[in-house]
Amino acid sequence: MTGLDLLADDHRRLFVGGAWTDAEGGATFDVLDPADGSVLCQVADGSVSDGQRALEAAVAAQDDWAATNPRDRGEILRRAFELVASRTDDFAQLMSLEMGKTVKEAAGEVGYGNEFLRWFSEEAVRIHGRWMNAPAGGSRLLTIKKPVGPCLFVTPWNFPLAMGTRKIGPAIAAGCTMIVKPAAQTPLTMLALAATFAEAGLPDGVLNVVPTTHAGEVSAAIMADPRLRKVSFTGSTGVGKQLVKQAADQLQRVSMELGGNAPFLVFDDADVDAAVDGAMLAKMRNMGEACTAANRFLVHASVADEFAKKLADRMGALTLGRGQDDGTDVGPLIDEKAVESVTGLVDRAVEAGASVVVGGQAHGGPGFFYPPTVLVDVPQDAEINREEIFGPVAPITTFETEEEAVAQANDTEYGLSSYVYTNDVRRTIRLAEALDFGMVGVNTGLVSNPAAPFGGVKASGFGREGGFEGIEEYLDTTYVALAL
Ligand code: NAD
Repeated sequence: MTGLDLLADDHRRLFVGGAWTDAEGGATFDVLDPADGSVLCQVADGSVSDGQRALEAAVAAQDDWAATNPRDRGEILRRAFELVASRTDDFAQLMSLEMGKTVKEAAGEVGYGNEFLRWFSEEAVRIHGRWMNAPAGGSRLLTIKKPVGPCLFVTPWNFPLAMGTRKIGPAIAAGCTMIVKPAAQTPLTMLALAATFAEAGLPDGVLNVVPTTHAGEVSAAIMADPRLRKVSFTGSTGVGKQLVKQAADQLQRVSMELGGNAPFLVFDDADVDAAVDGAMLAKMRNMGEACTAANRFLVHASVADEFAKKLADRMGALTLGRGQDDGTDVGPLIDEKAVESVTGLVDRAVEAGASVVVGGQAHGGPGFFYPPTVLVDVPQDAEINREEIFGPVAPITTFETEEEAVAQANDTEYGLSSYVYTNDVRRTIRLAEALDFGMVGVNTGLVSNPAAPFGGVKASGFGREGGFEGIEEYLDTTYVALAL
C-alpha cells in the first residue's frame, strides 16, 4: 500500500458527526503534488454551512464526551496511537505526496506526531484539582478541572499530522470535542487520521474535519457562535492576530503557535563539527519549512569561516528530488509562491552585501524546488535576518562578544525557538535566561519533544503544546469554597 491508498475515495470528504459527507452543493478542490504541480485528487470543499454543521456535531457530542471516564478517553487515544504506528509507512507516503517532504522525514513526523497521542493517553488519567486549607482557616478551598468545551483547530501545511495531534491529543484527553480545519494544501493526512480515530472507537462528533479553501469565512462563522469555547491555531503571525481579534467577540480561549525567527548561536568554545550537525537538523528539517527552523546563524568571528565551509559542504552535497524517490535528501517547497519568496529574500540579501557560498538560484520547474543555500557576510539588519525564510537557506552573520550575540539574537519580533552551541556551562545558563524565546536548544538542533512544553513568546504567540502544560490549554478551573 502506498500514498493515496491509505485514504479511501469515500474519505476524501468532510468528516462530520462520525459520517463522511460531501460539501454543500458537492464543491471540491484540487490537492496538488508539489513535486510536479499535478493534481493528486479532489477533496470536498467545505462551506460556511458545512462548518456550522460540524460545530453542531461537536456541540451535540460535548456533554456525553465530557462525562466519559479519563481511562476510556486514554484508551481510545492509545488505540489510535497503535493504529497510526502500525501504518507509519502509509501515513508517511501519503504525507510525502501532498506535502513534498521525503518519505523518511515524513515517517519521522509520523513518529513525532503520534507520540502526542501516546503522551496524552497517559495524561488523561492525571487531570486533577487541588485541595487547600484556607490560609486564615475556617474553610477548605478546592479546585475542579473541567474540559473547556468545543474547540476549533486551524493547522498549517508544513507538518500535516503533528500540528494536528498536538491539539487533538490533549483535547481528547481533557474531554473536549473539536473541529479541525487542515490547510488546503495538505488535507489528506488529517482525513486519514480521522478515519483512524473512528476505527479506534472515538465517538461520533468528538472529532470533525472540515477541509476548505474558504478558511477565513468558515472559521469566522464557527467562531461567531458562543458555544465554541476555544480556538487553537498554528500558522502565520498575521492570521493568528486576526483570529485573536475574532475570538475577543465571544471571549473564546486561544492558543497561538505562530511564526519564528530562530537564531542559531555558535560560540568560539563550541565543537564546530557538532554545531554543523545541529545546523543541518535545525535548518534542513522539512526543507527549512518549519517554525523552529534556524533562520539566522550568528557565529563567533573566529570560527565563522570554518563553520560556513563545513555547512556549505554538507548542504551542497544534498540531493534534491521527489520526496518518494530513494536517494532524495531534499524535497520541493510547498508551492510556487514559496519559491518566489525564498528567491526574493536571497536576491535582496546579495544586493545588501551577502555572498553565496553554495546554492542561491532556483532550478526552474517542474516542481517547486529551491537548492540548499549558504550565505556569508550577511549584514545584521538584512531583511533575510528579520523575515521567516521558510526555505533551505542559511544566512551567516558574525559576532565578537556574548553581549553582542544576545542583542543580535533578541533583535526580532519573534520568540519561538533558539539554538546555542557552547561548551561553557555558565554561559549556557546565562544565555538560557537572556534569550527571549520560548525554547532554547543547547548543543542540539532539535527542540521538539511531546513531553516538553512547545511554544513561543512575543509575536510567536502564547500557549504551550505538549508536556504537562499541554492539557491545561483544554481545561477550565472551577474553584469551590467549602465552609467548615
Ligand atoms: P497560514 O497562517 O497561511 O495558514 C495556517 C492555517 O490558517 C491554514 O489552515 C490556513 O488555511 C488557515 N487560514 C488562513 N487564513 C485564515 C483566516 N483568515 N482565518 C482562519 N484561518 C485561516 O500559515 P501557513 O503558511 O500554512 O504556515 C506557515 C506558518 O505557520 C509559518 O509562519 C510558521 O512559522 C507557522 N508555524 C508555526 C508553528 C508553531 O508551532 N509555532 C508550527 C508550524 C508552523
